[in-house]
Amino acid sequence: MYIDIATLFPDMVDSYLNESVVGRARKNGVFTAKCHNIRDYTNDKHRRVDDTPYSKRQGMLMQAQPIFDCFTKVTEGRNRPHVIFMSPQGKVLTQQRCKQLAQMESLFILCGHYEGVDQRVLDKIVDEEICIGDYVLTGGELPALVLIDSVVRMLDGTLSQSDCFEDESHYSGLLEYPQYTRPQIWQGEEVPEVLLSGHHANIEKWKREQSLLTTLKKRPDMLKTAELSQSDQKFLENNR
Ligand code: SAM
Repeated sequence: MYIDIATLFPDMVDSYLNESVVGRARKNGVFTAKCHNIRDYTNDKHRRVDDTPYSKRQGMLMQAQPIFDCFTKVTEGRNRPHVIFMSPQGKVLTQQRCKQLAQMESLFILCGHYEGVDQRVLDKIVDEEICIGDYVLTGGELPALVLIDSVVRMLDGTLSQSDCFEDESHYSGLLEYPQYTRPQIWQGEEVPEVLLSGHHANIEKWKREQSLLTTLKKRPDMLKTAELSQSDQKFLENNR
């Protein structure tokens, strides 16, 4: 997968993408990410990229020209990428949408800043607006990283078999079961016996039931849309 990020703060984005699991995947070529400084594309001799909005006295708005030229130059001679604008006005990001985005060949992610971006360039280049939650942040850099991290985790080669993402919360519409590591007894509390039994089928059954219980307790709303078997439903009825 190829990801371009257009931002006024490329170092902020780049440094995160070089660390931990995502950084390893980037280094191993699982995905390619390039951060583009929008300021490098301005026609203004003082390198300005923003101006006051017509509708408000205070604040600054990112201008259309540097963003449009950045997009045009970066994507020149390539297949058009899917263009995402990180925005508090977009659709709220879900695991389901991340799964779909992980199938795409290339993404171009635009990060706004200040009061936002001149609407005209958004109308020209953006395919989709994505919000990471109903609150307003200073810029689109953190939201872009949230999106990229979640998408990259699902690319082949990012995670090893042992910490596969398919068991994790939200992937199948439920929350994950509780997890334990060594020591076997900590402050008198023992790891559930079934996990030490080596009985694969019983462990799988325990994991499913714990997943259902955790979701019931923490996010009962998710049970309305999760895919549940008859035995899942029976188990939930007995534990409500
Ligand atoms: N004036 C804008 C509004 O009221 O919709 C908010 C601008 S915000 C201060 C600056 C930039 O941060 C936005 O253009 C967007 O790129 C990003 N941003 C802020 N909150 C966000 C969120 N919840 N999800 C995604 N991007 C966000």
